[in-house]
Amino acid sequence: MIEFKDVSKTYDGKTYALKDVNLKIDDGEFVFIVGRSGAGKTTLTKLLLREERVTSGRLLINQFRLDKMRNSKVPYLRRTMGVVFQDFRLFPKKTVYENVAFAMQVIGTPKNTIKTNVPIFVEAVGLKDRMDAFPKQLSGGEKQRVALARALANNPKILIADEPTGNIDPEMSLEIMNLLLALNKELGKTVIVVTHEKEFVNTFNQRVITISDGVIESDRIGGMYNE
Ligand code: ADP
Repeated sequence: MIEFKDVSKTYDGKTYALKDVNLKIDDGEFVFIVGRSGAGKTTLTKLLLREERVTSGRLLINQFRLDKMRNSKVPYLRRTMGVVFQDFRLFPKKTVYENVAFAMQVIGTPKNTIKTNVPIFVEAVGLKDRMDAFPKQLSGGEKQRVALARALANNPKILIADEPTGNIDPEMSLEIMNLLLALNKELGKTVIVVTHEKEFVNTFNQRVITISDGVIESDRIGGMYNE
């Protein structure tokens, strides 16, 4: 479970990027976090990944207490999360297979496990036939699929997608969203999708949390985001 309790974040000590945020996300939930540019979405993501620390309040992710955690424990937290970004962040000189394998290598996964599991993750995102392709040979949608396979590689409980469709055409964007939904439904991952594409979110019947000027403006199921 993820829980924000009266979480505030300021970068300069006076302006609030987030103010008194109270929020609970249960295991296995699918959540959209939406809001205009500057609303505080990136800040919220950075707090979850402990790239930034809360200024005040409590932040819990499963057994981790992020507001109190030492920096030396952060890698253990990050292993429980898979992240994809708008700009994919793939290694250009590594193939699809190698990009996914690398995520497993860095945490010391045995070679045999890597060999067995990489194809499973690549297949899960529908790219079995592109295993040996390099990022530059792939479309935006395909690159994001690779990023998703890599995010899945260490079997995280939580998937965070930060503007995952920002660099992808609308048709492919729908596919990526459907894939994220499938990973939620079929693998039981907690999925958090951060986006400013409010119209897009309306087409899915999911929980939508709207942030505006650092506060939660609304939190409801159904994607009726009309503001
Ligand atoms: P969003 O992702 O919704 O566009 P952000 O979380 O990036 O919003 O920004 C929220 C607010 O915090 C904005 O007013 C932004 O200018 C400010 N902010 C974000 N990052 C920093 C930073 N590193 N230093 C100072 N202010 C920041």
